[in-house]
Amino acid sequence: MKGIRDPRLLPIAEKVEAGERLTFAEGLVLYETQDLPALMRLANRVRERKHGHKTYFVHSIRVSQTNICYVGCTFCAFQRRFGEEGAWDWDVEEVVAWVKARYQPGLTEIHMTAGHHPKRPFQYYLDLVRALKETFPGVQVKAWTAAEIHHFSKIARLPYREVLQALKEAGLDAMPGGGAEIFAERVRKRIARAKVSAEGWLEIHRTAHELGIPTNATMLYGHIETLEERLDHMDRLRRLQDETGGFMSFIPLAFQPDGNQLARELGKREFTTGLDDLRNLAVARLYLDNIPHIKGYWATLTPELAQVSLDWGVTDIDGTLIEERIVHMAGSPTPEGLSKRELARIILAAGRIPVERDALYREVRVWNQVEA
Ligand code: SF4
Repeated sequence: MKGIRDPRLLPIAEKVEAGERLTFAEGLVLYETQDLPALMRLANRVRERKHGHKTYFVHSIRVSQTNICYVGCTFCAFQRRFGEEGAWDWDVEEVVAWVKARYQPGLTEIHMTAGHHPKRPFQYYLDLVRALKETFPGVQVKAWTAAEIHHFSKIARLPYREVLQALKEAGLDAMPGGGAEIFAERVRKRIARAKVSAEGWLEIHRTAHELGIPTNATMLYGHIETLEERLDHMDRLRRLQDETGGFMSFIPLAFQPDGNQLARELGKREFTTGLDDLRNLAVARLYLDNIPHIKGYWATLTPELAQVSLDWGVTDIDGTLIEERIVHMAGSPTPEGLSKRELARIILAAGRIPVERDALYREVRVWNQVEA
């Protein structure tokens, strides 16, 4: 590749060209280099080799059945206690009614994550999946993070495998990638002490993959983690993916600093910068050679930066997200939803091909143009 200014990138570029796996030390060079144009081109090379110009999005609704949670992650502005102002806790009928009121034709995915409710029995979650599948046939249910599965396993006193098998039988199609945060113990202790451990998170995803439940994986960055800890996080995901092949996408989530304890402790008011976000996406695309998609989640990036990210390794910008609440309660200034037309327009304007997909990355429709 011509025009590389940082000599440390030359051997990396050769490996990328040959399709060879990068080492941990090479990953760190990607985080450190000031030669950002070269980093972008390398990530784009991999992106286009894997998916050409295709860029995916999904017509999806976000549901959180409760924000009551006892876990107390310090970065979280979503959690509430019983009776606290702004707390909600819906039964099965209320969740179904909420989705019905916002249902749009062509909806393919119900994405559901929520707080760890201390009193709901496991049966409630099985009933919830069944009711959604019965009321909205053909819509895929992608629900509950590994942290929530760990919680279900505790309340039901069942091993992860049995919890996941029962949810699958009730109709669960896929799992989101949340709860991963940063795997390093030093960071986890400070930001998510009472949440599932890193080992537990990985074990739950391993088990889901073995049972034929595909999943995503996230990383919450931009708070107290080091670059080594970010790379360690990706390295553990890469190793698990070698074993199972069950991850569909990797989603870096930038820390949102409003209304949470961690931001107050750190005195931190700034979001990550646009270049931090783009660099992080590019490193992920280059390091995670075995995960099909890197997602530029527009709800935290902003639609504008998500559009730019399509040149930095991103092949998915998530979806319509009807009424996203979790990152917006932490201060994300982005809209709470975008139409399919708006998403397709953003992608087309970047010179890429918008592909509407379902929760399992099956193609629903290629948008060659944006209709009026
Ligand atoms: S991130 Fe999830 S588990 Fe942690 S406090 Fe917030 S709602 Fe609870």
